[in-house]
Amino acid sequence: MTPDLWLEAHAYLKPIADLSAEVDRAAAGITVLDARIPDWEEYRTDFLAGVTLLASADAAVDLEPGGRMAAALLERLASGTSSGTLATEALVLATELRREPQASRRIADFLLGDETIAPPAPGLLRYVGWTAMARFLRPVVNAFDEWRDEERWLRRYCPTCGSLPAMAQLVGADPGRKRLLSCGCCGTRWQFKRTGCPFCDTDSQRLSSVTIEAEPGLRIDHCESCGGYLKTYDGQGNETFLLSDWSSLHLDLIAHDRGLKRLAASLYEFEPARDLSAVRPVQ
Ligand SMILES: [Zn+2]
Ligand SMILES: [Zn+2]
Repeated sequence: MTPDLWLEAHAYLKPIADLSAEVDRAAAGITVLDARIPDWEEYRTDFLAGVTLLASADAAVDLEPGGRMAAALLERLASGTSSGTLATEALVLATELRREPQASRRIADFLLGDETIAPPAPGLLRYVGWTAMARFLRPVVNAFDEWRDEERWLRRYCPTCGSLPAMAQLVGADPGRKRLLSCGCCGTRWQFKRTGCPFCDTDSQRLSSVTIEAEPGLRIDHCESCGGYLKTYDGQGNETFLLSDWSSLHLDLIAHDRGLKRLAASLYEFEPARDLSAVRPVQ
């Protein structure tokens, strides 16, 4: 399966695929600034206490350069590399942020949940901001993956940035098959209990599964207790594409039609009453 074949079979995903490709193309032209790898021993106590890497004063990851990359990406999108609504919204946002003192710091704070700046297009800032920040953080996330003892985390939120998962992935074969949760913001994948809901944390709760005939490798796991669901990738080799969240937004429609709630942390939203061409970054 290639992304092209996927889009042929799921033509309604084309607008969101184009948007994603447009932002990725612009992001490829941005200089990636250096991120300092934390001293893991300094961070250990916080890690064991459930403090995320980016929230830990001891890990002291400075996100300001990532904020600078986000601002640069936005300027690039605003200055004609993009088209249509994306270019218009990016320009409004970039103009507003140019007036902001310490804009790069404020963007980084905003991405971690600080709502003291109220940008004109918060969904787009979150989407573009995380696209840039994930690139900035990649070496840190990779080093964190190497160091982290997964058995000591097993929490429902991302060990790097604290977001709830966007999707899940099953890896390996039984016995020892594992479930990873996938962060839609910073791109970390971390281990979680095989059963159990990451949204209401009910330990004994077993999840039910909906498999979709036309989509081998993808399924919807949902919790009877809170009604939340998680799209789950159950295959191999297409992680980057199929865990991108937007590539399986039609599963969100199926889940919605079954009365399930999207509690996953998604950077995308859609009007369920409309078709998927209305999918866009969360407003
Ligand atoms: Zn994360
Ligand atoms: Zn639940």
